[in-house]
Amino acid sequence: MKVTEFLKQTGDKTLVSFELLPPLKGGSIDAIFHTLDPLMEFKPPFIDVTYHREEFIYNVQPSGYYQKIAIRKRPGTVGICSAIMHHYGVQAVPHLICGGFTREDTENALIELHFLNIKNVLALRGDARKFDEKFMPEPGGNAYALDLVQQIDRMNKGIYLDPSIENGSRTDFCIGVAGYPEKHFEAPNMQSDLDFTRKKIENGAEYIVTQMFYDNKKFFDYVNTCRAAGIHAPIIPGIKPLTKKYQLNSVPRNFYINIPDDLVKAIEKTHSDQAAKEAGIEWCVAQCKELKAKGVPCLHFYTMGDSQTVKKIVEKIL
Ligand code: FAD
Repeated sequence: MKVTEFLKQTGDKTLVSFELLPPLKGGSIDAIFHTLDPLMEFKPPFIDVTYHREEFIYNVQPSGYYQKIAIRKRPGTVGICSAIMHHYGVQAVPHLICGGFTREDTENALIELHFLNIKNVLALRGDARKFDEKFMPEPGGNAYALDLVQQIDRMNKGIYLDPSIENGSRTDFCIGVAGYPEKHFEAPNMQSDLDFTRKKIENGAEYIVTQMFYDNKKFFDYVNTCRAAGIHAPIIPGIKPLTKKYQLNSVPRNFYINIPDDLVKAIEKTHSDQAAKEAGIEWCVAQCKELKAKGVPCLHFYTMGDSQTVKKIVEKIL
């Protein structure tokens, strides 16, 4: 079933869904089941699996020179999606990115997802690799999520890259895209970011999942601004509880978002790891309760492998 169908069917009830990272290379699929098992009692209608492209690392050689090596630390997105669907009978949503893919690679990846009966895809651009100054598409690859959305939409219409393919099998993907309540960090302003988000919807995307945020006002303002800008697709809030003091700096640095002063103070005044975690959980529960009361269709939790924290939160809000 498609994500948008779940959202339509839910009525006044707020759904919960989860996002997982593939385990580090060398890990086993049991790590995924270990994370998901405690969360299945909440009956998530869909589970997202992130995609991680190759990264560069520099190895020091005996000669003293550095050797640049490209490695993918977290492969396995498609296999994990298939395993989740098989093991739990729940829809899995693979993230698909532009970075590292030619359009031909993308087409082949979509064919594989279609054959696996995967019905949903989150279409993203991806970030610049560490040591790259800015995001660089592959030669012959999609440069923006918008281009990827357009490619998926064409395949939904049976149009493949090779024009000699006539009456190609139509894929049937429900396409989700990312949205940024505090603006994407590269966008010159919110209006410009929203214009491109609207184009993603006009070109075939059907729902938006947001970047994490800690101030609900930012989310409500974002939804209102989207609606005023003609974006009427469902908007699912992305939720990530803060659980460690150092995240007060690392989360803004990595995700370009602000942390409200009251949350900063609540975490800074704690004197143990456990107390800092409790403060983060308390904030997150309050955030989720308010989002639920305002009728969001779904709360989408970034689990980051910590299902026990997410479980504690969901138990308090459902
Ligand atoms: P885009 O929509 O392409 O936007 C990128 C920037 O370009 C924005 O500033 C936008 O305003 C601008 N822009 C858009 N279209 C155009 C255009 N046609 N011309 C000029 N400018 C344009 N990353 C991963 O690598 N793997 C993941 O699994 C992953 N999952 C994510 C899940 C969620 C819910 C979110 C919010 C992010 C995720 N990311 C993931 C991170 C994401 O790839 C980055 O935030 C990336 O920098 C932007 O991706 P996007 O799809 O929003 O890009």
